[in-house]
Amino acid sequence: MNVFITGGCGFIGSHLAERLLERGDRVQVLDDLSTGSMQNIAHLVGRPGFSYRIGSALDVPLVTELVDSADVTVHLAAAVGVKLIVEKPVHTIETNVRATEVVLGAAARKQKLVVVASTSEVYGKSTSIPFREDQDLQLGPTSHSRWAYACSKALDEWLALAYLREKGVPVIITRFFNTVGPRQTGQYGMVLPSFAAQALRNEPITVYGSGEQSRCFGHVRDAVEGLLRLMSTPTAIGEVFNIGSTQEVSILGLAEQVRDAAGSRSEIILVPYGEAYAAGFEDMMRRVPDVSKLEGVTGFRPRTSLDVIVRDVVEDQRSRMAAAANGGVPFMSARR
Ligand code: UDP
Repeated sequence: MNVFITGGCGFIGSHLAERLLERGDRVQVLDDLSTGSMQNIAHLVGRPGFSYRIGSALDVPLVTELVDSADVTVHLAAAVGVKLIVEKPVHTIETNVRATEVVLGAAARKQKLVVVASTSEVYGKSTSIPFREDQDLQLGPTSHSRWAYACSKALDEWLALAYLREKGVPVIITRFFNTVGPRQTGQYGMVLPSFAAQALRNEPITVYGSGEQSRCFGHVRDAVEGLLRLMSTPTAIGEVFNIGSTQEVSILGLAEQVRDAAGSRSEIILVPYGEAYAAGFEDMMRRVPDVSKLEGVTGFRPRTSLDVIVRDVVEDQRSRMAAAANGGVPFMSARR
């Protein structure tokens, strides 16, 4: 298969590219390096079947050319990370909505399959746990920037399904829950790499709010496996799928687990949300996926345990720090 990945220098995109190459597919990636990085694909550059373009997913001629030349497009390019989203709401809305329009418009020319990456954020403040794909979404007010992300991704989903119904474009929608693993950076606010870096430096581990809020962290390897299986399942077309782990942990519990795994002396401190993000910031207390639809259609559900995930992330942060201390570029040598 020829697979085109938008956002292919990002965290999930680079893992997907790696897996596709391993199984003999050809991969083209497009990335504007806004949150993605060349380091993420450094180990893939030069491999047979791999090519990359640095450019924007809003560039219609470029995206059209790349969608046309592929069998499948996986659209991962998006503004991500709660911190970034709260700080740059215009960028978030414009990037997320326009890029998806461009990709779907290009795919409509030759009815090419598009996988549109969405997010568990679309469930918003819903408390009906576990979240099922067909349940109502419950977003907060427009005065809170956080919900702009959920809304922009929900619009992406509507747009994708509209392209299928009106123009016959085959689409699959994947709602990724908290996906973590090697190569994810804490720079955009993601909790696990941030905690791992703090623990390894013996700095205070910053738990926002009470720390009683919980999440389910899924390994990126499992997220990629789910995505690959969906891509080759005809009955997945026109459907929305949760992809994530169902092992729930409180953020305070996560901080303790990371501290233990890192052998750290860090203290764990509670930081009010208003200090961490902005006044009036709304968090959700729980977020757990129902993955029975994914399992029913593909026979697969993410199973990597939190122990393994935390260990992988701590080791990844450790090797990044060692590489940075040696003036080298993380991953290039470690991942070959
Ligand atoms: N969080 C935290 N400390 C941090 C970063 C995040 O306590 O340094 C919390 C955050 O408030 C949320 C949870 O960890 O309750 C997960 O945050 P993340 O941004 O990773 O993902 P989200 O689930 O919010 O999309």
